[in-house]
Amino acid sequence: MADERYLVLARKWRPQTFEDVIGQEHITRTLQNAITSGRVGHAFLFIGSRGIGKTTTARILSKALNCSSASGPTPTPCGACSNCASIAAGNNIDVIEIDGASNNSVDNVREIREHVRMVPSGSRYKIYIIDEVHQLSTGAFNALLKTLEEPPPHAIFILATTEASKIPATIVSRCQRYDFRRVPLGRIQDLLRRILVAEGVTCSDEALHAIARSADGGMRDAESILDQLLSYCGETITFQDVFDVLGLVDWRVLHELCDAVLSQDIAKQLTIVEDVVASGKDLSQFVEDILRYFRNLLVCKTADAKKLLALPDDEIQSMQAHDQSDPAGGAIRGVVEGF
Ligand SMILES: [Zn+2]
Repeated sequence: MADERYLVLARKWRPQTFEDVIGQEHITRTLQNAITSGRVGHAFLFIGSRGIGKTTTARILSKALNCSSASGPTPTPCGACSNCASIAAGNNIDVIEIDGASNNSVDNVREIREHVRMVPSGSRYKIYIIDEVHQLSTGAFNALLKTLEEPPPHAIFILATTEASKIPATIVSRCQRYDFRRVPLGRIQDLLRRILVAEGVTCSDEALHAIARSADGGMRDAESILDQLLSYCGETITFQDVFDVLGLVDWRVLHELCDAVLSQDIAKQLTIVEDVVASGKDLSQFVEDILRYFRNLLVCKTADAKKLLALPDDEIQSMQAHDQSDPAGGAIRGVVEGF
């Protein structure tokens, strides 16, 4: 059920134009300018964590290069011609998407090398999108390098990876490199809010914030969490629902635990941990949350928390009110160092 909905939501909200890609303007603008000025490279390297728009941008770039409504590559593909439509659907004959993890051998790359010589059948360019390219074997990278050194004029390679350090320098130096960023919390919240309005679902700001924070800069993760919540909650999502579905611990519990740690009240610490364990929460997430809580507390004690921490006001106020006897956060720093 959750999976079905996920597909539906992800398809519905997958960006279709450069303007729709959220949080990667430094990349989409550069690509559009390159197209406008006719300076399109033959190999691109898209780097960044998962779920932040690499493959989506690769598809939009493919549409921009092959849109048949324009007389040449265009920064604003029409989205309606047969090329644009089939690329969006992932079944265009000249845009080949390859999973580098399962096609990582020399033979796989040799196949690409044979294939790349043939001219595109209904487009300007033959475009190869190789995802998870860092998984290629050394031999496969060497074979790919030969193609990148002397590509046929109609071939364009878009290599995508989450692990830039595993790509040989010889490959990197032949590509235009684009570093994708994690999407800022506020931008994720904005998109989630738009989705919720369109889906006719109500959700408190506090709950929305918790979802966005949990996604940790990944747009796809945010959408996937929202999918789970839509399946679980129906038409109203509350703060408590988010905590239940994600197995998170309420920050008020963290606040209490933090008090107990700072006042060295071991009995209370054990009771709180016991409650968290008994409620079946995700414990590794709990430890991460504790660390983040102490870190945020330290920021509250020493810097402009409102500017640095993307947290709801009441949470920041409660942290600022924490342990007034320790205004410089010395005790907190001791705990953080202890971790
Ligand atoms: Zn088009």
